[in-house]
Amino acid sequence: MKYYSTNHLAPLATLRDAVTKGLAPDKGLYMPQSLPVMSPSFFEHIQDLSLPEIAGKVATALFGEDVPEEELHQIACETLNFEIPVVHVNDNIYSLELFHGPTLAFKDVGARFMARMLAHFVKTSTEGNTINVLAATSGDTGSAVANGFLGVEGIQVYVLYPYGKVSPIQEAQFTTLGQNITAIAIDGTFDDCQALVKKAFTDDALNNRMKLTSANSINLARLLPQTFYYFHAYAQMKRNGLDRNLRICVPSGNFGNIAAGLIAMKMGLPVHRFIAANNRNDVFCRYLSTGEYHPSATIPTIANAMDVGAPSNFARILDLFNGSHDAIQAVVAGMAFDDNQIRVTISNVYRSYNYLLDPHGACAYAALHKLLRPGENGLFLETAHPAKFSETIASVIGRRPQLPQRLQAFMDRKKQSIFMDNDFESFKCFLLNKG
Ligand SMILES: *Cc1c(COP(=O)(O)O)cnc(C)c1O
Repeated sequence: MKYYSTNHLAPLATLRDAVTKGLAPDKGLYMPQSLPVMSPSFFEHIQDLSLPEIAGKVATALFGEDVPEEELHQIACETLNFEIPVVHVNDNIYSLELFHGPTLAFKDVGARFMARMLAHFVKTSTEGNTINVLAATSGDTGSAVANGFLGVEGIQVYVLYPYGKVSPIQEAQFTTLGQNITAIAIDGTFDDCQALVKKAFTDDALNNRMKLTSANSINLARLLPQTFYYFHAYAQMKRNGLDRNLRICVPSGNFGNIAAGLIAMKMGLPVHRFIAANNRNDVFCRYLSTGEYHPSATIPTIANAMDVGAPSNFARILDLFNGSHDAIQAVVAGMAFDDNQIRVTISNVYRSYNYLLDPHGACAYAALHKLLRPGENGLFLETAHPAKFSETIASVIGRRPQLPQRLQAFMDRKKQSIFMDNDFESFKCFLLNKG
């Protein structure tokens, strides 16, 4: 399989190049030239397959030309070793709980699979260079990436985060690990961290000296494994006779998660419709209703992992539908909610159905509840454990959700970060000394 850039100005790339570089040289995002379609017999028996079995088969369809099948199955078994259950909430609305991984958010899936795929490419490389993964984070990405890559041979990870602006539990998850994980506290904002990382990817001196790649959803090795749980969700719905007219709602920020869902659909997954749920950062919803795409400045909300004003995967969604607004609108609906609506949703669903949503899942539940039609089965993606947002949840329901034991353990460990000014030359110097 070859990969093209959504800007169409870069040569086709191999999977190895696409995942070890992250972004195409023309700054576009890589996409598979054609998407494999899963066979009818796969869907016929899917309800009998486990998550690692499904992931192994889908991964083989996507990556099998470039990574040996046994290796893909092994990576699937070792990285997807936690539950992703479908849970009934009310009427015909179900929650796909994506938060049972090590850092309690859906990004664990992509980050863990990506780490092992990169490790495969390092191991089989003739140059044998270490790959350096740079990740700017406002909290969740850093913890998922750091935990996913911890101890993986041939890879060094640098997590840049805005000093004093991430929650204590998030900070503990990427500053206490050591080994191949280095945390860098920047005296600045998340946008400053992101700008430093972006600048590093285009700096010639740095790129000549060391291999740099990104671990956010612009990287295909993180994005494509997110298709696995859509197939797994479908298998569970089918097992319970709920697979007809399936409408899936995805709480969206950078639109990597829903892009993976749409890719799964193009690979044959029988989904009727999608919904993109937004917080007040609603550029995509506005695109759906007007046909015009105007990125805007980020608005802070209580569903902060979705605070994105210019979603990077928009280009991929456009390409999946040949740039046609009508074609996108025929499959994807959108709806946005402000902080107050999010709080009311968390409170109502908790009191009426005894199900505790996190602020991101609450946007998705609310959109699905509003847009689900009679005769449809609704599934929303619950992307984080409510305990990750304990302040917000406590202010809504009057008590703190219980933090799972294994997360509490991070809080007792020693935090270690390198402090740095918001200055590219210092960052560059630091990396060059390491590499
Ligand atoms: C990252 C994140 C999202 C948004 O996912 P995208 O792929 O960026 O659209 C939603 N919820 C949570 C909890 C997240 O961490």
